[in-house]
Amino acid sequence: MAASGVCWAQEILERKEAELTHELRTRDGIAIEKSADPMDEIQYASERDLAIRNVDRESTLLRQVKAALRRVRDGSFGTCVECDWAISPKRLAAVPWASRCIQCQDAADRAGQPAAESFGDNLVNAA
Ligand SMILES: [Zn+2]
Repeated sequence: MAASGVCWAQEILERKEAELTHELRTRDGIAIEKSADPMDEIQYASERDLAIRNVDRESTLLRQVKAALRRVRDGSFGTCVECDWAISPKRLAAVPWASRCIQCQDAADRAGQPAAESFGDNLVNAA
């Protein structure tokens, strides 16, 4: 059953999807600069690493957002994918793309599965 309040989530998720898609697209070419100066070289390398990590993080988040949108459409949004219980509205408000309830997420974290949700803070502030 579709939980009430799905509309707000869909709007947020669609906005997030557009935002991430745009960011990933504009960051298409990660500059590979070369320098004869070893110090510059180190600087470039760390900038490159950072850029790659960001792209990585954004693609992971985009996948989660897309999956959440699919759950909005098929009516399973707000239900934990692991235990089928409702995810708390407070958690969904903070992390609309959460696919697990807090208990299952904790268990997954302990099992070493990537959560990739700790960067939901921006969204909370923006909302
Ligand atoms: Zn659960």
